[in-house]
Amino acid sequence: MSIFSQVSRRHFMAIVTASAGTVLLKGCMGNPPETSTTQSAPVASPVMALKPEMLPEVKTVKLGYLPIVEAAPLIVAKEKGLFAKYGMSDVEIAKQANWGSARDNVKIGSAGGGIDGGQWQMPMPYLISEGIITDNTKVPMYVLAQLNTQGNGIAIANKHLGKGLSLQVTEQVAFFNKLKSEGTKFKAAYTFPKANQEFWIRYWLAGNGIDPDAEVELLTVPTAQTVADMKRGAMDAFSTGDPWPYRIVTDKIGFISALTAEIWKNHPEEYLAIRKDWVDRYPKATKAILKALMEAQQWCDNFDNRKELASILSKREYFNVSEAILIDPLMGKYNLGERSVNDQSMAPLYWKDGKGSVSYPYQSHDLWFLTESVRWGFLPKETLTKAKDLIKQVNREDIWREAAKELGVAATDIPTSTSRGVEEFFDGTKFDPENPQAYLNSLKIKRV
Ligand code: CA
Repeated sequence: MSIFSQVSRRHFMAIVTASAGTVLLKGCMGNPPETSTTQSAPVASPVMALKPEMLPEVKTVKLGYLPIVEAAPLIVAKEKGLFAKYGMSDVEIAKQANWGSARDNVKIGSAGGGIDGGQWQMPMPYLISEGIITDNTKVPMYVLAQLNTQGNGIAIANKHLGKGLSLQVTEQVAFFNKLKSEGTKFKAAYTFPKANQEFWIRYWLAGNGIDPDAEVELLTVPTAQTVADMKRGAMDAFSTGDPWPYRIVTDKIGFISALTAEIWKNHPEEYLAIRKDWVDRYPKATKAILKALMEAQQWCDNFDNRKELASILSKREYFNVSEAILIDPLMGKYNLGERSVNDQSMAPLYWKDGKGSVSYPYQSHDLWFLTESVRWGFLPKETLTKAKDLIKQVNREDIWREAAKELGVAATDIPTSTSRGVEEFFDGTKFDPENPQAYLNSLKIKRV
């Protein structure tokens, strides 16, 4: 079959799959009608002459994503025909209405009209594997790669401009106490409870000596609703992925107190995780997905490509926002409202950052997310004793390594340890993965 006819067939299949997907979305997945999975056909990119041992067992997989910059490598892998290049010609990436829908859809799997995996906040793959957020139904998952580091922020409503709410909060006790005594307790939102976004806002508050459980009211708001809700005064702050915090500033609704890259430089952000049963059944297809993802991450990481990246993400079927809202955060150019940041090392990073590999899923980061869950009482203290075993079951960095080698990634770009070593936060706190208990002991504000 010629390259041309393969592309034509893919084009046809993409249309068929997209139409079927749209019907499913409207009928079964609980997504709003405006959510569309209609996707343009992959760009004609050369299909690899794959060795038989690398031929994927299936050509199709259904991966969920949320309209935030974390999803960029999945969208680019699809748009640039990279999944097809490695033999996965019918990958469907499906926009999820919110994190709750993504969780419900992975629980039923693609066979039930849901998804096989996709983009996740940590530690969602662990909470789903253990049945903690899936009504005690354990749905074992594998964490396979990290999608990005950084690229998130904490947005604050305009009425608090000039009150010292920055990375370092001045007069913190007076400010939060006054609101509390006036019956207008500071309301801070995140997009899904007990995961990344809640951790970032809690870390920022607690690092400034503010007890998030005592001084603040915390609530969940879906990503796409954050801007509207702040506009109508329903919340004082929210934490989510770009471009949403930045949009608050451009829409003159609020400002950004801190970029998550300032709270924790090169911090782990979101991940690719797929159901264990799917990966175990299709190991070669899994590696094909990873190879496409890694190539997309390398492309996304090149700042020369970021203008085109903004243009791709802005499309109606993906983020459905103007390119202008996307380009600045992607370039590390943030107008925070009260101050500005112009530094590419603060932007979302996809392949390499100041600490090394972005794509490789460090087990030491999974341990931080589990430790932080214990800190706030989201998971029992005993989690730490069994964390090592749990991480070994869920985090399949070994599959990432195999795929990286097959892709021909330079040995220097493949981490030699499952730990990134000691991590340091903006308040001077250190997390040593060898001793998570010492980290917990060092924290003044905690629930454990
Ligand atoms: Ca995020």
